[in-house]
Amino acid sequence: MILVTGGAGYIGSHTCQYLKEMGEEVIVVDNLSTGFQDSVYADHFYDLDIRDEKLQKVFERHPIDGVIHFAASSLVGVSMEQPSVYYDNNLVGTLRLLDCMRAAGTENIVFSSTAATYGEPKRIPIEESDPTEPTNPYGETKLAMEKMMRWFDKAYGLKYVALRYFNAAGASKDTSLGERHNPETHLIPLILQVPLGRRQHISIFGEDYPTPDGTCVRDYIHVIDLAQAHYLAYQYLKAGSESEVFNLGNGNGYSVRQVIEVARDVTHHPIPAVSEARRPGDPAVLVASSQKARDILGWAPKHTQLKEIVEDAWNFYNK
Ligand code: UDP
Repeated sequence: MILVTGGAGYIGSHTCQYLKEMGEEVIVVDNLSTGFQDSVYADHFYDLDIRDEKLQKVFERHPIDGVIHFAASSLVGVSMEQPSVYYDNNLVGTLRLLDCMRAAGTENIVFSSTAATYGEPKRIPIEESDPTEPTNPYGETKLAMEKMMRWFDKAYGLKYVALRYFNAAGASKDTSLGERHNPETHLIPLILQVPLGRRQHISIFGEDYPTPDGTCVRDYIHVIDLAQAHYLAYQYLKAGSESEVFNLGNGNGYSVRQVIEVARDVTHHPIPAVSEARRPGDPAVLVASSQKARDILGWAPKHTQLKEIVEDAWNFYNK
C-alpha cells in the first residue's frame, strides 16, 4: 500500500491515477488547501495536514510500504514574500512525515523536488551533480528536504528518491485531471485562458534574455511522464536500491514565444501577447539532462511533443 501526500494536487493526482492503473493500493492524505477532492484517485482518502499528529494514526491503521510525498507549497513568488509559511509547510511537514515513517518502520519515500534547487544554472543541460544554489525560499526548502532525507538515510536507513522536475504541463488523456492552480501562475494554463475568454492577452515576462528570441527557455514535461517516473522510482526503492536524485525533463527547450505559437496552432485563436518586464528570479534557460533517470530508472518519456502537451491541457480546459 502506498501513501501519497498531496494526492489531490496537480502532479499528485495524475500519479495516483497512474498507480491505480498499475494495480497499486493507494491512500491519499491531503489538506485540500490547494488540491481538489474530486481529483483524488485512491482507495482511502484523509482530509488531513501532514503536520497534524493524526498522521501517525494513518500509519497505524494501514500497512504502508512506501510514501510518495507531494504535499508542499510550490509558488516561487509567494515564497519570496512568506518564507515562514514555506519553511513551516515544506520542512516541518516533511519532518513530521519522516518521523511517522520511522515510528511505523516505513523505509521508502519518493518525493517531488524541483529544478529550482539549482538556481541560476552553470551549464545547460543541467545534470544532477551541478551546483545547487536556490534563488528563492521555495527552491531552498525543497533542497533542505532533500538534505533532511540524506541525513535520515545515514542515521536511520531511510531510502529516498528525489525527483527534480522541470516544467510540468499537460493533463490526463481522459480529461478527468489537469492543472487547476488558484491563483494560476504557470505559462501554459495562463496562455489557454485567452482562447477560453478568461483573459485578454498573455504577458511575456522579458524579451531581453540572452536566448534566440529573447524570451525564457524552459523544458516542458508531460505530467503523465512525471507520474510514470514516480512509479518507477517507487519500484526502484522497493527493489532495495540506494537513495538517489534524478532530473525529470524532456531535454528540449522551448521559449515563451514558441509555447505561445504552439498554443495558437492548437486552439486556432490569435492569442494576443504583450511584452512586460522580467519576472524577478527567472533564469534565462532551464533544460534538464534526464540521462540518469533513463539509465537507472529505465524512464522513457512518451509524450514529448510540446503540441501534444498543450493539446492535452486544452482538452482538459474545454471539457
Ligand atoms: N511566463 C510568462 N508569462 C506568464 C507566465 C510565465 O512569460 O504569464 C514565463 C516565465 O517568466 C518563465 C516561463 O514563462 O520564463 C515559465 O514560467 P512558469 O511560471 O510556467 O514556470 P517556471 O519556469 O517559473 O517554473
